[in-house]
Amino acid sequence: MTQQTTIDPDTAWAAFVARNRSLDGHFVGAVKTTGIYCKPSCPARRPLRENMSFYSDGAAARAAGYRACLRCKPDEVGRDRIAVAKAIALIEQAEDAPSLDAVASAVGYAPHHFHRLFKRATGITPAAYARSLKSTRAGDALTREDRVADAIYDAGYSAPSRFYDHAGKRLGMTPSAWQRGGAGVTIRWTVADTSLGKLLVAATKKGLCRVSFDEGPLELAERFPAAEIVEGGAALAQLAARVVAEVETPGRDRDLPLDVQGTAFQEAIWQALRRIPPGETRSYGELAAAIGKPGAVRAAGTACGANNVAVVIPCHRVQRADGSIGGYAYGVERKRALLKREGE
Ligand SMILES: [Zn+2]
Repeated sequence: MTQQTTIDPDTAWAAFVARNRSLDGHFVGAVKTTGIYCKPSCPARRPLRENMSFYSDGAAARAAGYRACLRCKPDEVGRDRIAVAKAIALIEQAEDAPSLDAVASAVGYAPHHFHRLFKRATGITPAAYARSLKSTRAGDALTREDRVADAIYDAGYSAPSRFYDHAGKRLGMTPSAWQRGGAGVTIRWTVADTSLGKLLVAATKKGLCRVSFDEGPLELAERFPAAEIVEGGAALAQLAARVVAEVETPGRDRDLPLDVQGTAFQEAIWQALRRIPPGETRSYGELAAAIGKPGAVRAAGTACGANNVAVVIPCHRVQRADGSIGGYAYGVERKRALLKREGE
């Protein structure tokens, strides 16, 4: 198992059943019987669930031997998402709203095509987004455009810069470095032995950026393509020892430093996960309610699936609403073992 991804399979399957376009580009689903992978909104008939597995992106699915679906072209979504994310960063960094032509050419698309693409991905046009940022910066109270900007990070893009002002509240790494795949950041890694298997522990100088079972430097480099990936180091060895201790006796070390970044919503969910007392569990609905968004059950599931730091951000403390154990990116057996250790 190299890339059964951090995607919660229940959430991913639900996205495919609903043909949820807003999750296109967040992950792909591969079909064992046909050897192809699709985006969630693919119009093709749904395979049986047991024939589907989920990957974080097309590259991971191809590495597992799958081919892209010719009908829904899942890789174009990936390219589109990168272009939209770049455009959002450009618009945020500009003093004055850049023209559509300038934004489109900076991300390598024809203007009319990019306009449509941006609107489909975020729900608003690039110009409306620039206006909404301007009104936010001007300190206006919650305007219609302000709420419209919320739609962008609800769609899974990085939150507007104003969320990065509260440095003390943030979990780590500056947003620009993450948006650029870790450019300018050195990530140190090691693979530790634990009683639950090999554990990749990776950290920047600020804190842990990836903790995952059954992964190594290749998966790390895929996740942070622009970062400098370096093996070992004394500081990391110390940190890794603490992480291993968390696997063996979870819930004891609450101060492990993190360097992770998600949307404002995802980070709120990750914080909420860290507040669940060891040995207890919550449902996605309870998590969503805990951050004041009781309706965002599915989004809570996606946020848990996007967790980069296994065990330390305890997404294993999420169960189904009916009390059954639910899925886990690294296998239900590991989840069960972690919960059992916490309960002791
Ligand atoms: Zn397809």
